[in-house]
Amino acid sequence: MHAFKYKNSELYAEDVPVRKIAEAVGTPVYIYSHDTLLRHFNAYREAFNGQPHTICFALKANSNLAILRLLARNGCGADVVSGGELHLALKAGIPSGKIVYAGVGKTENEIAQALKAGILMFNIESSDEMLAINEIAGRMKKKAPIALRVNPDIDPETHPYISTGLKESKFGIPIEEALEHYQLARKLPNLNVLGIHKHIGSQITTIRPFVDALQKVISLAKTLRSHGIAIDYIDMGGGLGIPYRNEHPPHPSELSKAILPLMKDGNFNLILEPGRSISGNAGVLVTKVLYIKKHPQKEFVIIDGGMNDLIRPSLYNAYHNVLPVKKNNRKKVVSDLVGPICESGDFLAKNRELNKVSRGDLLAVMSAGAYGFTMSSNYNSRPRVAEVLVKGREFFVIRERETYSDLIRGSRIPEFLKQ
Ligand SMILES: *Cc1c(COP(=O)(O)O)cnc(C)c1O
Repeated sequence: MHAFKYKNSELYAEDVPVRKIAEAVGTPVYIYSHDTLLRHFNAYREAFNGQPHTICFALKANSNLAILRLLARNGCGADVVSGGELHLALKAGIPSGKIVYAGVGKTENEIAQALKAGILMFNIESSDEMLAINEIAGRMKKKAPIALRVNPDIDPETHPYISTGLKESKFGIPIEEALEHYQLARKLPNLNVLGIHKHIGSQITTIRPFVDALQKVISLAKTLRSHGIAIDYIDMGGGLGIPYRNEHPPHPSELSKAILPLMKDGNFNLILEPGRSISGNAGVLVTKVLYIKKHPQKEFVIIDGGMNDLIRPSLYNAYHNVLPVKKNNRKKVVSDLVGPICESGDFLAKNRELNKVSRGDLLAVMSAGAYGFTMSSNYNSRPRVAEVLVKGREFFVIRERETYSDLIRGSRIPEFLKQ
């Protein structure tokens, strides 16, 4: 069922040879599988079938408009963390009633934009933010639907940069202080308290942290209800991991099996915010070998994709599997795969054993469909790369490669420099 596999030593994306896409669109290029995106989304849908729920895809993992449209068509909602993401979600056709909005630094304009759109709920991260939303809603003569993001102090046992549910984290409100915050929220006239939100981190590969955190949240929900505060929604966030190397993260059905019994009798509406587990393994970054360079200690494979295209290895020391687009039987060489960026931290793989490659060979960097393109930049004035969606035997460019004119779009030369 895997969408990226070999046929006669050639790597395919569904039924299209990856080489064919690279020839038509150029490299580097992100390639996504339509089939895999849907399969991953449907795995959640089926797992939580029977429990009232909304699956809100986390746009920060992948916000390509065509991918969002595909998910929207299949009933997916959105978890957004900025006004820009809210704009994209609505443009893609995600109904505002399926959009939740998190993030510690929502601006006044963003709050007004979300109130105007009529989103499902704000996931509030501090009492200051709560007061601001109340005030802005009052000015707009609206009631803001809200949940408070609580921090259950659970260690998700993942990379520190992507753990968000520990005491020292900037996210959410410490769970011990939640009751007093909810009591304040209830008194504010322009807020409508609907639920509790938590999100403890990303790339979590065991069930335990999800269960521990949810238990704390459900017990809080019961306490709040006993104080007469209506809690209809429990938003359990995202964070389910994917196999990058040899991890064996739980399937959404295992997650639901562990979690649904805890929710039973509570009459809760569940919100899930998966990002990585939907798009991560639905995409690859294809890059071309430019040069081979041998140093006394090391061999470098210099490729046309760099940290500006995929920053996860540089930022988190993340591992991405690398596959040759055309398999060969040449001898194995251990090398670093490095990009053209003028930074020592610019690598996509280190000390990687690969069959020897030469100039012009294509390599696929696997599991790049989440936090890949969305974290890319124009650093070193490199145009951002193209994105392609494969569906069966067909492929579609879903974002054009940027051009040099994109690099100067919006720039102005002041008059005094024009003479
Ligand atoms: C990043 C994020 C997600 C998605 O996390 P994944 O690990 O990609 O599933 C969900 N909710 C919130 C609030 C987030 O910040």
